Amino acid sequence: MKVTEHIEKANGKALFSFEILPPLKGQNIEGIYSTIDPLMEFKPPFVDVTYHREEYVYKTHKNGLLEKTVTRKRPGTVGICAAIMHKYKIDAVPHIICGGFTKQDTEDALIDLDFLGIDNVLVLRGDPIKSEKRFTPEPNGHAYAIDLMEQVKNLNDGVYLDEDLKYNSPTNFCIGVAGYPEKHFEAPNMKNDLYWLKKKVENGAEYIVTQMFFDNSKFFEFERQCREEGIDVPIIPGLKPLSTERQLSLLPQIFHLDLPDALVDEVNKAKSKDAIREIGVEWCIEQSKELIKNGSPVLHYYSMGKSKNIQKIAREVF
Ligand code: FAD
Repeated sequence: MKVTEHIEKANGKALFSFEILPPLKGQNIEGIYSTIDPLMEFKPPFVDVTYHREEYVYKTHKNGLLEKTVTRKRPGTVGICAAIMHKYKIDAVPHIICGGFTKQDTEDALIDLDFLGIDNVLVLRGDPIKSEKRFTPEPNGHAYAIDLMEQVKNLNDGVYLDEDLKYNSPTNFCIGVAGYPEKHFEAPNMKNDLYWLKKKVENGAEYIVTQMFFDNSKFFEFERQCREEGIDVPIIPGLKPLSTERQLSLLPQIFHLDLPDALVDEVNKAKSKDAIREIGVEWCIEQSKELIKNGSPVLHYYSMGKSKNIQKIAREVF
């Protein structure tokens, strides 16, 4: 079932969903199940599975020379989606990205997803390769999420890359895209970022999932601006409970967001690691309750492989 159908079916009741990362290469799938199992009591209608592109790794040889190798540290997105659907009988939403994919690779991946009965994709550009400053698309790949979206839409219309196919069975993917309450870090300003977000919606995006944020007023302002621009699809807030002191600098660095003074002050005053985790959970509970009151259709939690804190939050909220 499509994410949008789940939202319609819920008839105004806020749904619970979350995102998981594929395990690091070499680990087994049990780790994923142990993240998902404690969260099943909150009846997530769908679970997102991130996609991780290749990275460059430099190996030092005995003679001091460096060898550059390419590796994908977290493969398995498609397999995990299929395993989740099979084991839990819920929908899995794979993230698909432009980075590292030619149009042909994308088409092949979409055909696999379609054959597996996957009805949803979250369409993203992806970040630059870790060691590179700028995002570079593959030759014959896509430069922006909106271009990748167009390929998914074409396939939904039965338009494949090879024009002379004997059969052209259409796919039926529901397309989600990303939104940034505190602006995408490359956008010159919010107006420009919203311009492209609106274009994504006009071109077929059926819902938006946001980057994590810790200050609800930023989300409410983003939502207000989206509606003012005529962006009328569901906007799903993305939430993450802060869990360590280190995240005070890590989260702004990685996700380009501001942490509210009150949260930072509380964490700085905390006497132990457990106390910090508790502060993060309490903060996220308050955020969640306010977002539900405000009418958010789904609350989407970034698990980052840990479900204990999300379980505590969901018990108070759902
Ligand atoms: P786009 O929509 O392409 O936007 C990128 C930038 O270009 C923005 O500044 C936008 O304003 C601008 N822009 C957009 N279209 C155009 C255009 N046609 N011309 C000029 N400018 C344009 N990354 C992963 O690698 N794997 C994941 O699984 C993953 N999951 C994510 C899930 C969520 C909910 C979010 C919020 C992010 C996720 N990311 C993931 C990170 C994401 O890939 C990065 O934030 C990336 O830098 C931007 O992706 P996007 O889809 O928002 O890009």
